[in-house]
Amino acid sequence: MSRLEELRANLAQVEDRVLAAAEAAGRSREDLTVVVVTKTYPASDVDLLVELGVRDVGENRHPEAGDKLAQLQRPAPRMHFLGGVQTNKAGAIARYADVVHSVDRAKLARSLSRGAEAAGRELGVLVQVDVDGTDDGRSGAAPADVPVLAELVAELPGLRLDGVMTVAPLGAPARPAFDELVRLSHDLRRDHPDASVVSAGMSGDFEEAIAAGATHLRIGRSILGERPPLR
Ligand SMILES: *Cc1c(COP(=O)(O)O)cnc(C)c1O
Repeated sequence: MSRLEELRANLAQVEDRVLAAAEAAGRSREDLTVVVVTKTYPASDVDLLVELGVRDVGENRHPEAGDKLAQLQRPAPRMHFLGGVQTNKAGAIARYADVVHSVDRAKLARSLSRGAEAAGRELGVLVQVDVDGTDDGRSGAAPADVPVLAELVAELPGLRLDGVMTVAPLGAPARPAFDELVRLSHDLRRDHPDASVVSAGMSGDFEEAIAAGATHLRIGRSILGERPPLR
């Protein structure tokens, strides 16, 4: 089977699962966006995904993400940046990302704002939340810090507050974390009605994320295949 056919089959399988989970939750497929996470896979795979109709891809590392976009033969999909961002890389990421899902501190928001302004672009921003709120070194703002950080993002030039994101805790059930994120999203939308994105769910837990109310699913391995272990 060619890589194109393999990706087509995997996309179709994921689509079936997304549809089934949406139906079970009484939700509409149109309210869900699948971000296909292409990290570690080559630009040629992104081109094939675009050929298959994928419009949103996710990457978690700089400069891999920008390099890959520069190598594409087909029109670029929307680029979602998902990973931790060192403040000194924010300017470069602001030049090519369309949405950054991983903003968890004021300093990073300010650096992205300066970068977006310098590039004459508007960058979508999700506030990444560490919903269990423990100081365990995981990325993400504590839930109590979300309102102030979100307000800052909404006010900074060059940034558009799109919503919230989380990664489920390792070794614990995902659903309570997703439920908590959805509660935070409801609170946020009282002051920021357009910040409706709830980014949650990966290959292992996207059905639970759909049940909880996520709008954006970040799916890598189920579509591209298992990644080699990180160096
Ligand atoms: C890699 C990654 C994903 C995708 O994970 P899979 O298990 O490959 O579906 C989603 N979100 C983030 C933040 C990631 O780094």
